[in-house]
Amino acid sequence: MAVRNIMLEGEEVLRKHAHPVDRITRRIRVLLDDMAETMYANDGAGLAAPQVGILRRVVVIDAGEGLIELINPVIVETEGSMVNPEGCLSIPGRRCTVERPERVVVEALDRNGKPIRVEGTGLLAMALCHELDHLDGILYTDKMIEDVTDQYTNEAQEQEETES
Ligand SMILES: [Zn+2]
Repeated sequence: MAVRNIMLEGEEVLRKHAHPVDRITRRIRVLLDDMAETMYANDGAGLAAPQVGILRRVVVIDAGEGLIELINPVIVETEGSMVNPEGCLSIPGRRCTVERPERVVVEALDRNGKPIRVEGTGLLAMALCHELDHLDGILYTDKMIEDVTDQYTNEAQEQEETES
């Protein structure tokens, strides 16, 4: 396992559409391992493959409920709406509020190719939406309602980070 370099805003790869995984090879499993390690090393709540320069539909999330690995994830249900501040490991130091569904259901494959269904509310719903957007070249700042970076600059180091 290895911590990979995180692509920062401005890198073209973050704006591209990621391709579905057609075969889950050892390479994909190594990517999942590396992405989880990279996410934890950076205190993130999620990471999408384009953020480490790989244009594949692969996502890892840990919104405090344990590691979730998603291959070819698709949102199949949404409900409600909420507005919360978000951050992104590819846009360090910034926080902006974004409107997201309160609850989402995602279907995907796990690392063994088995279909899985993940239901998330609150922070997990936010992380699922945020990471899936990365797969389509969308950054959360595209959906920004308000830049609230100033409200977080002092607390950022102390609080548990939720950048993804
Ligand atoms: Zn992000």
